[in-house]
Amino acid sequence: MAKRNLKYYLKTKLSDKQLQLVPSSFDVVGDILIFSEFPKQLTKKEKIIGQTILKNYHHIKTVLKKTKKYSGEFRTPKLKIIAGEKKKETVCKENDVFVKLDVEKVYFSPRMSSERKRIAELVKPNESVLVMFSGSGAYPLVIAKNSKCKEVYGIEINPIAHKYALENVKKNKSENKIRLFLGDVRKIIPKLNKKFDRILMPLPKGGEDFLVLALKHIKNNGIVHFYDFLHEDEFYKAEEKVKEACNKSNKKYKIIEIAKCGQYSPRFYRICADFSVD
Ligand code: SAM
Repeated sequence: MAKRNLKYYLKTKLSDKQLQLVPSSFDVVGDILIFSEFPKQLTKKEKIIGQTILKNYHHIKTVLKKTKKYSGEFRTPKLKIIAGEKKKETVCKENDVFVKLDVEKVYFSPRMSSERKRIAELVKPNESVLVMFSGSGAYPLVIAKNSKCKEVYGIEINPIAHKYALENVKKNKSENKIRLFLGDVRKIIPKLNKKFDRILMPLPKGGEDFLVLALKHIKNNGIVHFYDFLHEDEFYKAEEKVKEACNKSNKKYKIIEIAKCGQYSPRFYRICADFSVD
């Protein structure tokens, strides 16, 4: 962010005890700053904290705090404006693409930008890629811009996320590579009548329910990226889920890597199991 951290600017405005409670981590999506964990004890001070951010970090126009965690089928949060412009829509730039979205109506995590880059770097020339659960289009856009893939298909059930994704594809001039579909992957994928070289499954909560579906539509020697939330002592559970689905589908698999792609609490990670199938 800037040379001086937020606590420095709040020194004269809060007591030492309050200062200690100020969260040192937050997300920045475009010109919106979001506190994921904002302590109840600072509720009366939230306005002054928000205004201090706006005064000292000029690229931030709105400050929000999460009041309800990601939930429901669309994996969206509830967010309260604590200072600045009354808006929740923004444009975020990452990996040479622009992603426009409403941070409350659409799931998006800026913390996944290096993971999106990692996947794009694995894509080989001329691959057909499927992104199940494509949201506002971040994965398809980053892959289309940063690889020599033939095409990227994206499927998303949240109509607002899908609408933003369509707009983002145009904004990034990626219409020649990306095809987007609105609906449930369980209904859309069978209708595509197509197999893919690579399938991404960025739905870490409950994604295992879709593994058999992914296995039906992966080419021989294709690669699946299966996301999960796991304690560091239980990474083996990702392979167990892959194994169970492969047994059901009568497929052989080989785990290539279990990549850590974000830490959510002490020793608790978002992981991606990359595995090949034949
Ligand atoms: N890939 C996006 C990203 O990284 O920004 C979004 C990931 S978010 C964790 C999971 C997404 O899956 C949500 O946008 C949700 O609406 C969508 N989703 C959940 N169940 C789905 C289903 N059965 N079919 C299609 N999309 C689904």
